[in-house]
Amino acid sequence: MLEVSPGDEELHDTSSDVGSVVARAPFLVLGVDSRLHVTFAAGALDALPAAELFAGADGDRMLSTHRALLEILARSVNGAQASTVTVEGRHRIALHAEPLSGGGAVAVCLDVDRTAQAVSRSEQGLRMLFRNVPAGIWATDLRLRITRAEGSLLEQVPAALRPVVGRRVWDFTGDRSPADAVMSLHLGALAGQSGSARFKALGRLYDVVLEPLRDGTGQVTGCVGFAMDATRHYAREAALQKLARRLDSAQRLAHVGSWEYDLATNRIEWSEELHRMHGLPPGELGDSYEGFLAHTLPEDRPLTDAAVAQALRTGKGFQYDHRIVLPTGERRVLQTRGEVLFGADGQPSGLFGSCVDITERWQALEKQKRTVSLLTATLESTADGLLVVDLDGRVVAFNRRFAEMWRLPASVLEAATGQTLLAFVRRAVMGEEAFAARTRELESRPEEEGHDVLQLVDERIIERYSRPQRLDGSVVGRVWSFRDVTQRERLLRQAQLMSNAGRLLASLEVEQAAEAAARVALPLLGCACALDLFDPEGSRRLFSVAVEGAREVPLAVSRAALSGHPLVEAVGERTRLTVPLMARDKLLGVLTFLSAESRRHTQEDLVLAGKLGARMALAFDQASLYRQAREALDAREQFLSVAAHELRGPATTLQLGLQMLRSTGDCPSAPVELCERQLQQLGRLIDEMLDFTRLRSQRLHFEVEPVDLVKAVQLTVTSLGRELETSGSTLTVTAPAALVGRWDAGRIEQLVRNLLSNAIKYGRGRPIQVEVATSGDDATLVVRDMGIGIPLDRQAYVFEPFERAVSERNFGGLGLGLFISRAIVEAFGGTIALESQPDVGSTFRVTLPRDGPSP
Ligand code: ADP
Repeated sequence: MLEVSPGDEELHDTSSDVGSVVARAPFLVLGVDSRLHVTFAAGALDALPAAELFAGADGDRMLSTHRALLEILARSVNGAQASTVTVEGRHRIALHAEPLSGGGAVAVCLDVDRTAQAVSRSEQGLRMLFRNVPAGIWATDLRLRITRAEGSLLEQVPAALRPVVGRRVWDFTGDRSPADAVMSLHLGALAGQSGSARFKALGRLYDVVLEPLRDGTGQVTGCVGFAMDATRHYAREAALQKLARRLDSAQRLAHVGSWEYDLATNRIEWSEELHRMHGLPPGELGDSYEGFLAHTLPEDRPLTDAAVAQALRTGKGFQYDHRIVLPTGERRVLQTRGEVLFGADGQPSGLFGSCVDITERWQALEKQKRTVSLLTATLESTADGLLVVDLDGRVVAFNRRFAEMWRLPASVLEAATGQTLLAFVRRAVMGEEAFAARTRELESRPEEEGHDVLQLVDERIIERYSRPQRLDGSVVGRVWSFRDVTQRERLLRQAQLMSNAGRLLASLEVEQAAEAAARVALPLLGCACALDLFDPEGSRRLFSVAVEGAREVPLAVSRAALSGHPLVEAVGERTRLTVPLMARDKLLGVLTFLSAESRRHTQEDLVLAGKLGARMALAFDQASLYRQAREALDAREQFLSVAAHELRGPATTLQLGLQMLRSTGDCPSAPVELCERQLQQLGRLIDEMLDFTRLRSQRLHFEVEPVDLVKAVQLTVTSLGRELETSGSTLTVTAPAALVGRWDAGRIEQLVRNLLSNAIKYGRGRPIQVEVATSGDDATLVVRDMGIGIPLDRQAYVFEPFERAVSERNFGGLGLGLFISRAIVEAFGGTIALESQPDVGSTFRVTLPRDGPSP
């Protein structure tokens, strides 16, 4: 961008001080810096003063000639060789531009025709002109003798350093060696090469340009030197560089990058910080808009285009966020702000702006957005009604469920404050005052949590939770949460009812239990209840109960209910609910409920009453079955007792008869022995039956005396000799010589006999082991067989009366032996235990305290 630095004193000084000759001279000396800012201008061209021309004060008058000059200068600045060109304008202009080593260029432009005229017109005028140029110009011949020296600059330097006509160049530089910088420039020019250098002398900086001087044939005849005091310019440039460095540090510290876009050239300059933001070394961002776009995420490029286009269209500043991709692949988010730059013609000439890396802020914002969306979704997806109020009672948030739950009209919601909402809620609650008091209490204690159950006027049950809302540990409000627990409470009450009813009805006093269960059901299923039972003799009302304070309403039995189906019928404003009590397809009775005045029975009530009726029917049926079973058992025991007594007489007679037969010898001994064995067996069965009936009536008698357990075992083994032989089992007895304890001899033998005869009976002819031993104060008796064993699920029962784990067809017996055995063992304070495995065998282990039964 070519422009004149505003406030450039030299420019104005020149135009104002040089006077009319210079002002009109067809001669122009122009200096530009590396950014093509005109740093120096003297003389005039095309009758236009340089200041006016290049200040762009009058755009229209910036003729193509001058533009061309500046373009050449631009090329020169950018490193083109010094050149002499002629541009065609209104006049022939000779331009000589020379790059300066420190950047920038200097040019001398002459209007060829007018210069020639001027020269011929006045050598003196030209002198004056040169003298007024704020630079120094000199010419030498081939021997470096000064042939001309003009310019105000020369007058400023000390005489010793000033080129003086007639003297040699080295006379005032003091060094003749070709290596000397000034000499080298001059020698170069004599060799036909242009050159420039910067010199520091007497605390000032000078830019010096040397050109070969040629005659009309192009032959070098000497050289022309041009020196310019660039001290202020470089000072300004240094200051600018310092400023730029500071700007760069400031940008780095603030993470702000800047850029400038020139529309005409489509070039962008990026600050170093902006490069750092892109993860690129300086210069790598390129200098075009397209180059910049290449680093922007493709999805965000249209956004960038649109922002730029709109800014240029409207002339207004802009701001937008876009994502860039770093060479590492990392994505960052930049916020770009820009402003439009305008040219002298008032049209946008470019854009200028800054970029800030807002990735972290953006991520935080994204996270925050996600959190808010999650919270909103959570708030709305919960089945609870939620209301959040701040400490001043303002509504911070509530969800749809809250509005639905309390049936809040839009008018209330629109003008909602915590107070108005809770006041609305209050009206729907039973026990309004208590609710309001509790609410006030919680509001006055921000730290406190609360939980209560609200019974609503419309029969719903709502659970209310309230807890403080905290931010960084301090309370900032309160969250009220409401949960409709009507269904849960109903189910709970129903479950409680069924559980209570079940517990009550487990009682054998089923009629009282049924009445108690009906009372438990009452508030839930109605205000009155009656139970009618249908006995074989006819129908009878077992009870009729009502809730306290309920108006007495006669409860007639519904005819329809006799069909055995539950039903609800209208009785005036109320309903009557009837469920049949059915057990094993028999209608035992009907249970009838009358609804409370304010409500009618529902399907749910019908189901619940049905369950209660079924439970009652079961209880009645079970009670009746139990009664029957008891009666049957009593009958059996009675029969056993009678039969045992009745059998005992004939058995004794038979015994005597056999004894007589044996003593007379009238009969062969074999059938007599057979009869005796069978009679013994019959005797044992009769004894078992009698023992059983005695045990039942707790009349079993014991004669406690010293008894030798080993002897009892031996006697029993001997007496069972024949059965043992028939079974094929061998029997081993391991026992001490004697083991005496205080027991009943007959009962101990009976115990051993029961266990041994079972081992023989169920032992499958396999070996049987009997062990008698002492264990501390106890005697132990172990009977082990390897027979059929007892299934696990039957083992707990074999000690019960009449319980058998085998079929009667295969094995005879009453199922009383183990029952009596356990009774004997327990009578002596001992225990009997069973270990058995089907097909492996059984072991009965008896432990008997040796000092007999405790008194
Ligand atoms: P039972 O007269 O039937 O033998 P018990 O009271 O002596 O009556 O035994 C009850 C039941 O226990 C028997 O019917 C049988 O099924 C089982 N039982 C008793 N002892 C044994 C054993 N040693 N092996 C297998 N089963 C046995």
